[in-house]
Amino acid sequence: MGNRDKIEKRVIQASEEALYRQQYVSPLDVLLGMGTLHPSQIQDWRKGRVPHLEGIIQGNLSKISFAMKCFRSWAIKKGLKPSKTVYLARTRGPKKPLQFSKSGNPSIEQACQTHYISPLLSSKKKEKLKEKFEKPPELVVFIIGNPSSCSKCETELGKGNLLYVEGEEGFCLPCAGFGDLVFLSSGDATLTRRAKKYSSTSLVVVKFSRIRKRYERQGLLVQEDALRRAEEELKVSEEVYL
Ligand SMILES: [Zn+2]
Repeated sequence: MGNRDKIEKRVIQASEEALYRQQYVSPLDVLLGMGTLHPSQIQDWRKGRVPHLEGIIQGNLSKISFAMKCFRSWAIKKGLKPSKTVYLARTRGPKKPLQFSKSGNPSIEQACQTHYISPLLSSKKKEKLKEKFEKPPELVVFIIGNPSSCSKCETELGKGNLLYVEGEEGFCLPCAGFGDLVFLSSGDATLTRRAKKYSSTSLVVVKFSRIRKRYERQGLLVQEDALRRAEEELKVSEEVYL
């Protein structure tokens, strides 16, 4: 079997598997299924830690573009519907689209932004899918377990302080531009939901649990006004029901 036949076989396997599991297939599913990308690399890319996927993909660009060609013809044969999505980066400031290729070539970008949906998927589920694709991952801030310092103002940050990480650097909240946010600890789901809705910026606060060996959500950072407004509203609705 030639090299190209092998690639085609792997593309089809990965695509069939993803279609069976979720009723749609994205180019990322294909690259993941083929083993040319690792889930953690996709996370890094979505968090804006790498400028484009091309630089971290295993295999050369001609192999990848051949794989994408196989994927497209497989999807068309299957009668799947193409749908374009723009992936957004999780960084501070205005949302910006994520880039797949180093060159940013529009035809490559467009091919990578196109996923294929089963005609069996309901329109409601299609809507949800679009939302899921287009929503950038949440911004995260860490409660540090070890002393650190801000990359910009060099303030020493002891254990228990908050650190915002971007790329290789860590920042104190004021330097990251989040100095005006207040902490709302987890526990009151309704209050959290409302405060988040009213706050134009929010970050998830996480802390590493040594026992469970994973990051756990401690609460949110939200704008103070948003928190006050949410609290006021809930107070009023409580009074109504009393
Ligand atoms: Zn700082």
